[in-house]
Amino acid sequence: MFPDLCDIVIMLNITRKTLILTLICLCVASLLLAVLIVRLPGKASDEQATSATTATQSSAKAGESSPKEFAVYIETGHGVEDSGEWDAGCSWSDGGTEYEEAQIMIPIAKAMASYLRQAGVTVYTDADEENNLNLAYTLDFLDAHPEIDAFVNLHCDYEDADSGTMPLYRTEEQRKLAQALNDGVHRNIDIPDRGLTYREDLDTLNSDQVHCPAVLFETGSIRADNEILTLQYDEYGRGLAEGLCDYLNAQ
Ligand SMILES: [Zn+2]
Repeated sequence: MFPDLCDIVIMLNITRKTLILTLICLCVASLLLAVLIVRLPGKASDEQATSATTATQSSAKAGESSPKEFAVYIETGHGVEDSGEWDAGCSWSDGGTEYEEAQIMIPIAKAMASYLRQAGVTVYTDADEENNLNLAYTLDFLDAHPEIDAFVNLHCDYEDADSGTMPLYRTEEQRKLAQALNDGVHRNIDIPDRGLTYREDLDTLNSDQVHCPAVLFETGSIRADNEILTLQYDEYGRGLAEGLCDYLNAQ
């Protein structure tokens, strides 16, 4: 009826083995738990430290690479002269509509100014005044604001001129600005390229009142490129703005 001694020993052995195994399991579990409890806050701290470092590095990077606040002047060619008279620049009629250079440059200048302002650039332009500020006023303004980084003068060429862009420059720095503007336009507009052109005879490029790189940008022929200039003024302005931003950011 009762188990004999051997059976009891066997039973006890089994119980002891089970107990020992259970104890070992408990110990291992406790150890794992202890490690986890110690480890978790440490890991969180590490993560916080890492993310803080990353944030510091990012803000340091942002601080280093935060763009300089640029300012530019966009002059719409011709318009009201020093005398107060209206200077149309070149003009051309398609038989119905009379196109004036001084008028058709305004929407392009406005679009260019708008895109630059969206990019955070401070823009001064007579396009805001419907082209009623003359060149003498512009040069005086530029002389009084040596912090201005670039001066772009927008024109279009007369009716017999070939189709295409032709930025005019005199100095090496002006040539770089001319190249960037031209590249920006050709990325946005399908128009021939007449190439960068060296000129020594233009007030815009020679004036000692201008303390920044200046370019006179011939946007195209008033006849051959009329549709581009009058219908694609927004894309044209965007191209010029992109080119100018490229130039400024490369400084
Ligand atoms: Zn002109």
